[in-house]
Amino acid sequence: MKKIRLKAMAKINLGLDVVRKREDGYHEVRMIMQTIRMYDQIELEPTEAPGIRVSTNLNYLPTNEDNLVYKAAKLLMDEFDVKKGLNIGLRKFIPVAAGMAGGSSDAAAVMVGVNRLFHLNLSQKELMERGVKIGADVPYCILRGTALAEGIGEKLTHLPPAPAGYVLIAKPGIHVSTKFVYTNLKANELESHPDIDGQIQAIRSGDLKKVAELCGNVLETVTIPAYPVIEEIKDVMKKGGALNACMSGSGPTVFGLFDDREKAKAVYENLYGGELAKQVYLTTFFNNRKSGR
Ligand code: ATP
Repeated sequence: MKKIRLKAMAKINLGLDVVRKREDGYHEVRMIMQTIRMYDQIELEPTEAPGIRVSTNLNYLPTNEDNLVYKAAKLLMDEFDVKKGLNIGLRKFIPVAAGMAGGSSDAAAVMVGVNRLFHLNLSQKELMERGVKIGADVPYCILRGTALAEGIGEKLTHLPPAPAGYVLIAKPGIHVSTKFVYTNLKANELESHPDIDGQIQAIRSGDLKKVAELCGNVLETVTIPAYPVIEEIKDVMKKGGALNACMSGSGPTVFGLFDDREKAKAVYENLYGGELAKQVYLTTFFNNRKSGR
């Protein structure tokens, strides 16, 4: 059997609302998810020797069962009693712990790859049902494109592709724990909520300006007071001509949406190598679900 290579793409949240905190402690969300052309590279190589072995270019990431790629492969290989082993090579380019679902996307790609490599014949839906056991964002990362995510993020509705634009990504050099953000969120006392339904309408009518105008993320109510650099990056993007700028997921990554590549490039150059952001990328939406993996 030959090795296969896969792309695990990052996402941003064009909109992120928390509807309520449930009694079981989980937060019910409504999020507009969008895949972007930024990806980790994954190589899967079946071996005669049993067991799963992970190698990665980032030496601080776990290579044991704590890595989501390991968990994803094990979940399927155990269920289908795969006798062969698997080498997983992971080259990370998506910023880690950034609110871009890097780990979830790696897990999703591995599930797709293991399904293909060992001829498990699972449908996309069947993979997504298993993916949620690894993480709430994994089903979306299997689906990709533009989607509404509800429940704890696992209830997905496909949307038409968001109108094309330029996406500037900037991650400050700080670490924000997802747990810290959700623990400190006053979910049932939020003063305002992003207009997720309006944003869906704007996506359906192909209106990038309106999509951008309606970007909003309630988790900023926790992260911005604690880490003002997030607001500073948003300001730089908006002053540089972004249609809007917003934090992705639980942060700290900020994205700016532009309809003008030259303006996006100028802000990229302004932020790159500067004090505010450690990692800066200029990219676009990815919406062709059938290609690119
Ligand atoms: P999300 O947007 O889903 O909250 P994130 O971008 O905040 O995700 P990740 O980059 O997925 O966060 O990883 C968070 C933590 O998970 C890391 O600190 C890391 O130790 C652990 N982890 C396990 N597997 C991976 C992986 N394949 N890639 C990145 N991190 C991983």
